[in-house]
Amino acid sequence: MTNERNKKILLELVKQPENSRCADCGAPEPDWASYKIGVFVCLNCSGIHRSLSSRVKSIRLDNWEDDLVERPEGSVDPS
Ligand SMILES: [Zn+2]
Repeated sequence: MTNERNKKILLELVKQPENSRCADCGAPEPDWASYKIGVFVCLNCSGIHRSLSSRVKSIRLDNWEDDLVERPEGSVDPS
């Protein structure tokens, strides 16, 4: 399943130190990502981003198509 694979990549990405906090307010363990600007945010800030018409998705609940997930070269290998 491609979407499962993409989700795995995201869950790995959010474990990286630079992604371990909400990009907006600094809350730990953000569960949402804005796939337009490539940042991880918490639930509260995802609502703000959505109202600003950024595209946000839950990294746990939503499906992520291939073209929404940018894989940093060599840094994440979910296999
Ligand atoms: Zn936040």
